[in-house]
Amino acid sequence: MIEKVDRSPPSLEFIDLQAQRRELGNLIDDALAGVVEHGRFIMGPEVAALERELGGFADVRHVVACASGTDALMMALMAWGVGLGDAVFVPSFTFASSAEVVALLGATPVFVDVESETFNMDPASLERALDATRERLRPKVVIPVDMFGLPANYEAVERVISGYDLRILADSAQSFGASVGPKRSGALGDIATTSFFPAKPLGCYGDGGAIFTDDDEADSILRSLRVHGQGNSKYDTVRIGINGRLDTMQAAVLLAKLSIFEDEISRRQVVAKRYAVGLRDLVRIPPSPEGTTPAWAQYTILVEDRDLVARDLKARGIPTAVYYPKGLHQQAAYDRYPTDPAGLPITERLAEQVLSLPMHPYLGETTQAYIIEEVRAAVEKKRA
Ligand SMILES: *Cc1c(COP(=O)(O)O)cnc(C)c1O
Repeated sequence: MIEKVDRSPPSLEFIDLQAQRRELGNLIDDALAGVVEHGRFIMGPEVAALERELGGFADVRHVVACASGTDALMMALMAWGVGLGDAVFVPSFTFASSAEVVALLGATPVFVDVESETFNMDPASLERALDATRERLRPKVVIPVDMFGLPANYEAVERVISGYDLRILADSAQSFGASVGPKRSGALGDIATTSFFPAKPLGCYGDGGAIFTDDDEADSILRSLRVHGQGNSKYDTVRIGINGRLDTMQAAVLLAKLSIFEDEISRRQVVAKRYAVGLRDLVRIPPSPEGTTPAWAQYTILVEDRDLVARDLKARGIPTAVYYPKGLHQQAAYDRYPTDPAGLPITERLAEQVLSLPMHPYLGETTQAYIIEEVRAAVEKKRA
């Protein structure tokens, strides 16, 4: 083997938030200084401004900013009165949040398999899970997850649940900025939620989230739930709620970042395209269906000997991540909940093969060429 010169770029980040900060110039510092100056740290004017901007961006009537993507999911289920005896259908191949909120409210998460191509909920598996549970539990909500930034197949999910009184809660934590035809993430499902965790496509400098809906009644319940179930005045409490507010500081950060977000979404398409061109003959790459713009929260390939490939890449200075090493139905906290009676074989296989590569809007061409070359070398070595 020919000895290679180490040409690894000095700072190869999985997600480069400092590059984004440079792009923003003084915008964030100025926004934060503004909040310190006016001092309205809780529900300050930036929160309402952010809600308006997000509503305009996603073309949704109501946006309720909140403390995290997890709170967003939980508040949506609370607004619909989900509780004991209710079945909520969730993919197993997702982050714990998507199922955790269901169990916390006393309802039953029912785990559904995903499609191997899209990593998203498999409508056929949903149908089997629905058939198997409806005698024992009240089917109430389906939570499709827009895995890695690709919106789930909402039309197919709607077809499966037609004839049932089921609602769709879109877990769009990873897909804000994505679009399907004329619709943007946030406008899919009866209620959609997102997360502003720093590593998400639109991230703040801490925890944050938002809930999107066109339903006026749900909007007013959500606003009440966000502040301890408040009624018409501060100490009028009409329902059991939570402290689910978004900090004004985080709203200010998000307003600044929104000003470059459209450009970042375009840059992500360029980065994804370069990975596709460089890797598609060698490994399974993620789909980018016609008419859909994914948010590319992650760029996730499938490789055999995943752990060995990841180790080789690490040795060459390339950070990677495994989302997710287990399905939720394989986790100790969730292994007693019902699943699709046919099992979840795709989830289990993906958990062994997924590998997410560095992905952010500022990934330069030279750096990316290096990553592609090293991924190819690592995969080919395993196959030799
Ligand atoms: C990140 C994430 C969440 C939770 O968001 P937090 O803001 O961290 O609470 C929920 N669902 C999915 C699919 C996520 O990726």
